[in-house]
Amino acid sequence: MLKGRAAVVTGSTSGIGWGIARALAGAGADLVLNGFGDAAEIDASRASLAAEFGVRVLYDPADLADPAGPARLVERAREEFGRLDVLVNNAGIQHVAPVEEFPVERWDAVIALNLTAVFLGMRAAIPHLREGGWGRIVNVASAHGLVASANKVAYVAAKHGVVGATKVAALELANSGVTVNAICPGWVLTPLVERQIADRARQNGTDVARESEALLAEKQPMLAFTTPEAIGAMALYLCSDAAATVTGAALSIDGGWTAQ
Ligand code: NAD
Repeated sequence: MLKGRAAVVTGSTSGIGWGIARALAGAGADLVLNGFGDAAEIDASRASLAAEFGVRVLYDPADLADPAGPARLVERAREEFGRLDVLVNNAGIQHVAPVEEFPVERWDAVIALNLTAVFLGMRAAIPHLREGGWGRIVNVASAHGLVASANKVAYVAAKHGVVGATKVAALELANSGVTVNAICPGWVLTPLVERQIADRARQNGTDVARESEALLAEKQPMLAFTTPEAIGAMALYLCSDAAATVTGAALSIDGGWTAQ
């Protein structure tokens, strides 16, 4: 389905981004991987993805909190593959604290990565996607792009912003062959959430198993984590011809979280 196409997936060294990268590579896309981590492990993952699916995969360590980072990834795809067809804005971080105690530098860091980098990535990619006459932008927002939780002011503000920015870009690109959508996951068991569960277990003097159950029970009627593979499959659907008229949507995959 994506043979001959090139995709950038931000924050794809881990979790959901890796799930999306695998799904796109499985459909034949050449890939730019991005994110932090151990250099040798990242290179091994990069090489195994290329070998398993017979696609070209390169890795760029651009820090997307740096305003030059998103455009650099777009340029890498253009330089190495001669094109860009799919941009997945996925990289994100979390910080948990009440508004009155929320450190200003954590606010700035969350907004820079979770919101500004999404805008900058779209800004850099759109001219190339338009030129190709076909393109897909998939922004990984969150259930927190649609509803709030206490103690997550920067994250909730950023993810609501991502849903809004997705709608604006979708309108601007409506007749260009380029669609722009947001995916809004509930709980997915990745390092980002594992850290929150471990913190809760420490604070409450309990264990990870109990806090995992409690975390799900607080928000999700369906008491199960979504997998990164399922998010990858949803991203792949948005890249399909069947989704040609799906644009400006915020698609929930959240075990009923936002149905309440
Ligand atoms: P994760 O921590 O497993 O992965 C985050 C990725 O972003 C990693 O590859 C990391 O290296 C990269 N990254 C972090 N800072 C970066 C920076 N400055 N520049 C470039 N890359 C950077 O987290 P995840 O759970 O897979 O989250 C991925 C996305 O999904 C995030 O936007 C997150 O908000 C969103 N999301 C996650 C959940 C969940 O339950 N895990 C739910 C809803 C939405």
